[in-house]
Amino acid sequence: MTAPVLELNDLSRVFARRDGWLDRMLNRAGLGKPPERLVAVDGVSLSLRDGEMLGVVGESGCGKSTLGRMAAQLLPASGGEVRFRGRAISDLPRSEARDARRNIQMVFQNPYASLNPSLSVGDAIMEAPLTHGLVRRREIPDRLASLLSKVGLSPEMADRFPHELSGGQRQRVGIARALAVSPEVIIFDEAVAALDVSVQAQILNLLADLKEQGGFSSIFISHDLNVVRFISDRIAILYLGRLVELADRDTVFARPHHPYTRALLSEVPVLGAARRRFTPLKGELPSPLSPPPGCHFHPRCPFAQEICRRESPRLREVQEAGGTTHLSACHFDLPQPSPEAGPTPPPHPKEDSHDT
Ligand code: SF4
Repeated sequence: MTAPVLELNDLSRVFARRDGWLDRMLNRAGLGKPPERLVAVDGVSLSLRDGEMLGVVGESGCGKSTLGRMAAQLLPASGGEVRFRGRAISDLPRSEARDARRNIQMVFQNPYASLNPSLSVGDAIMEAPLTHGLVRRREIPDRLASLLSKVGLSPEMADRFPHELSGGQRQRVGIARALAVSPEVIIFDEAVAALDVSVQAQILNLLADLKEQGGFSSIFISHDLNVVRFISDRIAILYLGRLVELADRDTVFARPHHPYTRALLSEVPVLGAARRRFTPLKGELPSPLSPPPGCHFHPRCPFAQEICRRESPRLREVQEAGGTTHLSACHFDLPQPSPEAGPTPPPHPKEDSHDT
């Protein structure tokens, strides 16, 4: 069986607050406190299939961008591994690791900040292919024209500079720059979040067209479930650094299992069967510096029981007809509410949880 193009295995990232001079003095005197640790990503495992677009959703601060940066090798992991085509990138010889990194590109939220203001559009797009020896100088004009056309820009744009472009044009340049090295994976990190709604729609349509044309798999990171719905094949939901639900898009919208996913859905305008009375999110996202014990979601969960405050639920398979893989990290099997019904108390805890 062919290995997934990208696998994130038990990936974690912990940030430790750096001590200031006062902390260092207190530490030396034995009066210091242990350094604060922020667990941004906590043991997330995901795999990306060939040609698919995997949506990763969660509130700001849930660790989704950190996860994307680790996947793109822009940030080292504190634990776990990233595998490209079945091989851990950290174990690859230098030249193969470089090739793997070239194959995983990232498009960022702020296209202006991610473009060098002193480079023309053409230079910005062709810089990486030249560095990697993927194109000869005499091939540049044709290659550039082809990339610009692919993202809906005219060849004349090649001589412009970032400050001369609109937000949507800059994001198109960012996408062309990622495509320029013919990557197998592109990670879009809140790639439309900074754009006006009408421009958002244009960029989403562009991404849908590029996906249709094939040639790469992608992870689409967003705080907006509605945006992710438009473009993703499967959806992963993160909460305070943990993966809490994973299923194909239609399953997430038709039969969401985790109360957090249901709360997110309560804020999304949806049609038909999915328009049910889910309980909206209450309260603020707890600080990742001191996440609640047990199930991190329990202070905001309308179904929380005593066990939720003590035990962290493991990701387990939810029964779905037709062999669809649906994973959820909740102790309970919660019935889907009818359009009229309010929240239903949970039945008995499930015992057959397992890792994936
Ligand atoms: Fe809510 Fe408990 Fe399920 Fe967590 S484990 S989502 S607190 S019911």
